[in-house]
Amino acid sequence: MTDYDVLIIGAGISGATLAERYASIGKQVLVIEKRYHIAGNCFDEYDENGILVSKYGAHLFHTNDEQVWEYVNRFSEWYPWHHRVIARVDCKTVPIPVNITTVNTLFNTNIKSEEEMQQWLEENRTPFENAKNGEEAVLNRVGKVLYEKMFKHYTKKQWDKYPEELHASVLERIPVRHNYDDRYFSDKHQALPVGGYTQLFEKMLDHPNITVLLNTDFFDVKDQVGVYEKLFYTGPIDRFFEFENKLMEKLEYRSINFVTEHLDLEYFQENSVVNYPGEEVDFTRIIEYKHFGHQQSSKTSIVKEYTVDSGEPYYPVPNEKNQEIYNKYKEEADKLENIYFVGRLANYKYFNMDQAFKNALELFETLEMRI
Ligand code: UDP
Repeated sequence: MTDYDVLIIGAGISGATLAERYASIGKQVLVIEKRYHIAGNCFDEYDENGILVSKYGAHLFHTNDEQVWEYVNRFSEWYPWHHRVIARVDCKTVPIPVNITTVNTLFNTNIKSEEEMQQWLEENRTPFENAKNGEEAVLNRVGKVLYEKMFKHYTKKQWDKYPEELHASVLERIPVRHNYDDRYFSDKHQALPVGGYTQLFEKMLDHPNITVLLNTDFFDVKDQVGVYEKLFYTGPIDRFFEFENKLMEKLEYRSINFVTEHLDLEYFQENSVVNYPGEEVDFTRIIEYKHFGHQQSSKTSIVKEYTVDSGEPYYPVPNEKNQEIYNKYKEEADKLENIYFVGRLANYKYFNMDQAFKNALELFETLEMRI
């Protein structure tokens, strides 16, 4: 293999951002990607019904960060998309995050104002000053009944752990609304890329200084890579050290089994995402992709998500035990010169897409002192 200035392992958000940035300052960049495609878990493609479908689950972009927003707009046009999620609870359909409609629908109340909603929450919540785990975080916000109905079992299905076994931040990703706002996110910019994410990544990587090697596991070719100034690794951090013969306790990851059905129906459900927070089914949610961007097709495709232990690692599992294990890997990682660990899997952090962009941009800025 020829020598490159920068070697990047993984062509997802972190890898593509660093590749693009380094190419822009004249560096020769080699991106090595294990899968047959770029874009990491954002990868999307048109399916047999002509519907743009994400292979690894729905990706909804949202950010308050102006730098990230400006950056992603360099590679695609974006159309506004305010994501909404509904949940089937007790044979009823309610908005999630919990808002006035959720409470009125489930409890036959007649709340009409923010003050009344606040009062209802005060009467029903179990206050915890500093929530130590996911259960306390939810009880503190909405109380026991909504916890049982909407969070406890969904979380068990998603993580194979109850909320009390997870860091509070996992459940705090979802706000509680005192009004009728039924949008999933509150960020200033909420949008989807025109033409999809894969096209956006193609544009990011379309530079004469960037070479992308697909279908290549870095660990198979590790000994053949030539000299490089810097290496950015975006895979699971424990896998890296496995190949360094540093045997340490494995980190936990959650994977998703996506079960797709192509249906001869115009629509299967009334919304892009329907959550099933109860125990009556094993899947967590059903995604119907044609809702995103109001795609037109006489048929539809739905995907049921079953979260599982083994398979491609998608989610780090944020709790104390894993954090302690990760810290040991981090200590080893910090000893390496010119090798940087970046992204959701290498930092073992539950990053949203914008945080992943931000993290990579900041690393580039720190190392190169310019953008
Ligand atoms: N969650 C829940 N019920 C829901 C939706 C989410 O209990 O209907 C919890 C669950 O633990 C989940 C976490 O909130 O893992 C964060 O949800 P989010 O939608 O951010 O998860 P993601 O979209 O990243 O899978």
